[in-house]
Amino acid sequence: MLVLLILCVVVYMLIPYVLSRVCGLGVYRRGKNRQEKEFAFTFDDGPDPCYTPELLDLLKQYGVKATFFVLGSKAERYPELIWRMHEEGHQIGIHNYTHTCNWMLTPWEVKHQHVGRTADIIERITGERPTCYRPPWGLLNMGDLLFLRKSYRIVVWSVMGWDWKRQDDAEPLTQRLLSKIKPGAIVLLHDSGDTPGADEEAPRQMLKALQTVLQVLQHKGYQYMRTDKLLEYKAVEGYAMNQTIHPAKHIKSRVYE
Ligand SMILES: [Zn+2]
Repeated sequence: MLVLLILCVVVYMLIPYVLSRVCGLGVYRRGKNRQEKEFAFTFDDGPDPCYTPELLDLLKQYGVKATFFVLGSKAERYPELIWRMHEEGHQIGIHNYTHTCNWMLTPWEVKHQHVGRTADIIERITGERPTCYRPPWGLLNMGDLLFLRKSYRIVVWSVMGWDWKRQDDAEPLTQRLLSKIKPGAIVLLHDSGDTPGADEEAPRQMLKALQTVLQVLQHKGYQYMRTDKLLEYKAVEGYAMNQTIHPAKHIKSRVYE
């Protein structure tokens, strides 16, 4: 019985972890073009009624288009913020309906109760169906790795902000971002602090650090873009409601980096 349990954990959790997070198979971690000074900011766990509007103001001020991986339950609660992201040209991706780890879910639950449900909510608000997905904590189960990536681009990150814990000031986060952002980077930050393990005030410091980072990188000639642009695939403009075609399905499955 114990052997069977260990085998299940290895096959369902550990192998997908090693393949996706260590080897980068089946997921996107960074853009292919490492020559150009292009990279993407991504923001997880929102929308948040307090921090997301401030973040959107900041991004607008610096002309930044970013990608938001949102929770379906919060999108339902704050549709006006989802609409604003869409209207201001940001990409909206899926981060499950609630912040639940995929290792605790069956592939069917991930696909229908979290990803499909959240895609429906976003599509109802914006008229455009999301094409990319980031699992909470970046953890996929074997079913996700085998099947979900055929319908959605699974985007993880190359630069982790470690921004969910409040520190004495924003300086460590600022320096971490400035030292780690390289051409092609996908940067992970959070615009909400109510996820288990996070500090509620942490996004305040993220906003402060981000402002400094944007000021510095602007002078260095960096360009910020959505992950779909960075990864050179195009989101479907004006995607009509009730359409069942998933753009990602038309792109051949391959090993991504
Ligand atoms: Zn998250």
